[in-house]
Amino acid sequence: MMQTPLLLTAMMERAEKFYPKKHIVSRTESGIHRFTYKEWGKRTRRLGSVLTNLGVKEGDKVGTLAWNHHRHLEAYFAIPCMGAVLHTINIRLSPQHIVYIINHAKDTVLLVDSDLLPLVEKIRDQIPHVESIIVMTDGEMPDSTIEDLHHYEELLEKGDPTFSFRHDLDENAPAGMCYTSATTGNPKGVVYSHRGIVLHAMALGLADTTGIMERDVALPVVPMFHVNAWGLPFAAVWFGTTQVLPGPYFTPGLIAQLMEKEKVTVAAGVPTIWLGLLRELEENSYDLSSVRYLLCGGSAAPRGMIKTFEEKHGIPFMHAYGMTETSPLAVVASMKSQHEMLSNEERYDVKAKQGILVPGLEMKILGKDGEVEWNGREMGELALRGPWIASEYYEDDRTEDAFRNGWLHTGDVVTIDEEGYIKIVDRTKDLIKSGGEWISSVDLENALMSHEDIFEAAVVAVPHEEWQERPVACVVLKDAEKRTVTEEEIIDFLRPQFAKWWLPDKVIFMKEIPKTSVGKFLKMALRDEIQNKISQ
Ligand code: ADP
Repeated sequence: MMQTPLLLTAMMERAEKFYPKKHIVSRTESGIHRFTYKEWGKRTRRLGSVLTNLGVKEGDKVGTLAWNHHRHLEAYFAIPCMGAVLHTINIRLSPQHIVYIINHAKDTVLLVDSDLLPLVEKIRDQIPHVESIIVMTDGEMPDSTIEDLHHYEELLEKGDPTFSFRHDLDENAPAGMCYTSATTGNPKGVVYSHRGIVLHAMALGLADTTGIMERDVALPVVPMFHVNAWGLPFAAVWFGTTQVLPGPYFTPGLIAQLMEKEKVTVAAGVPTIWLGLLRELEENSYDLSSVRYLLCGGSAAPRGMIKTFEEKHGIPFMHAYGMTETSPLAVVASMKSQHEMLSNEERYDVKAKQGILVPGLEMKILGKDGEVEWNGREMGELALRGPWIASEYYEDDRTEDAFRNGWLHTGDVVTIDEEGYIKIVDRTKDLIKSGGEWISSVDLENALMSHEDIFEAAVVAVPHEEWQERPVACVVLKDAEKRTVTEEEIIDFLRPQFAKWWLPDKVIFMKEIPKTSVGKFLKMALRDEIQNKISQ
């Protein structure tokens, strides 16, 4: 067979040739922006010529500090298609971590949304490699303490709409990079190759995974600065899918409006986003009948939430699992034909698992004595390999912690059932070890979140003299003022579902659970907070 390289240039050109009339819709600071793939292609080429004129060369890193919008989508292709590397910077990291990753990647140019410019102003003198800063705005250039800022739209006006992108790149050349939002130490960089991105996009298009296709209207709520919005923008361009990009500072209400108005078929986000949408749907009514499914990953989707979406609102739900290191799609809870025979309750049990391995990847689940049995009980660490799994951290001596003997050791403890459905039991570091036995915080959290009065729940380990560690539950009530559920009632609710020794020793009511920059429970902070509360 021929050895033709898999490049983003071909993805982009396919959209230009075959889907010139399809739309990209963005919510921007000045309202809804709508244009076609044809116009997008021309602007993307203009951006390629502009960056070339600014001195960006093959292999250079170009950072973006931006929300999900059409300009970011232009950068998504202009940068890799000219041979440079798209470095999406997580705007929710601490300034100190943002400085670290800009310097570690050695970004030479930054593309920054105007509302995020104050962030860059604060760190400008700490990022010496950055030569040019381009401000993405609909309006005038904002006042700034930084000199020599470039205005994106003014630059593009002077750009060349026929600029040629590269067809001669090595498919293994870097196209993008993203740093994981570390809970300890500095963030770790993952570099995505053209080949990896193309094959991952192909996987997103498979009917038995997420089945993204031309007739979809895709809304990535997940930020474009987090694992490439799960690769959706790449797949959507390639397949000519209409894209709806939600822009800055959206609320559940704005998401629901966008979904209704643009007749979104697929929307992707973390559980926090979908919990917010559920609340919104309880208060206001929307016609969301266009939705084929909501894609949910990043942390475990509570079974109760899946059930409410499907039963109460008629919105299908799809649970998936991945990580920055896996591009991210690795496991998806698509149903098998045999599941059609199941009762609804049994079907939710399957849907609440993370799912089965995506075609193209390989896995091992490593327990104490080698690979675990497929019995849904034995726990082991998930290891993965495949063409869209990273092989190392970018210039980082922590590579060996996770990448060993050609496998990525995910740090996620899982079980696998007879049918091959994986269930994430915990992060290796979050499992609770009580009297030598493991307790899954995730199982307890899921059960707690199915209680009608509970909005969110996180369970963490606290040190215990006799048992080594014991679980403590932190819960946020849906309506703290009106509801009167007590600690005892919550424990009684859990009692029939778990062995006695799994039941939390304590339930702490909170206003909010501390979260990471991408909306995951920050268990380390929570453990410290609880430790303080208990010792007071
Ligand atoms: P971070 O930047 O926080 O590391 P990642 O997206 O790379 O963000 O996080 C990956 C981790 O998120 C996984 O290792 C796993 O622990 C968790 N995760 C992702 N998807 C799921 C899911 N569906 N259920 C449970 N945990 C998940």
